[in-house]
Amino acid sequence: MTEAVRHYSAPAQDMDNRPMLDAWREGRLLLPVCTGCGRSFFYPRPLCPHCWSAAPDWRQASGRGMIVSFSIVRRPNDPVFCEEAPIILGEIMLEEGVSMLARIVGGDADCVRSGMTVELLPLPDALRYSLPTFSFQAATGEASGAATPTETA
Ligand SMILES: [Zn+2]
Repeated sequence: MTEAVRHYSAPAQDMDNRPMLDAWREGRLLLPVCTGCGRSFFYPRPLCPHCWSAAPDWRQASGRGMIVSFSIVRRPNDPVFCEEAPIILGEIMLEEGVSMLARIVGGDADCVRSGMTVELLPLPDALRYSLPTFSFQAATGEASGAATPTETA
């Protein structure tokens, strides 16, 4: 797309999420990983939600995942998003076993289904968005009206 660059609000940055936001500006997804139990988690925070160990490290995620659930935002609160509505907001289960909420772009909102696969938006498109954003995987998750793995007769 050759749309003009949007000026989204910048997310609040702090010592807990800075590595993730810095990596996203390079088109990469970093997840916190616990130095105690080795499990990844999201959102970034100072204590592991599984074992309460402090000082998590960071690990680059594959950027691939599956839609667990989703919401179609037709009337955004922030006017900057109005021209882009409807917006797909998905709960995505990443390959690393971590669930995260993120925007999914590049598909028809009326064709989104749980079970579709998504992948991290690549550069340079990623630079348009201030938070990690996903797109539909062409092979299995194209939101174009085709049948999806979760649909039943
Ligand atoms: Zn842990």
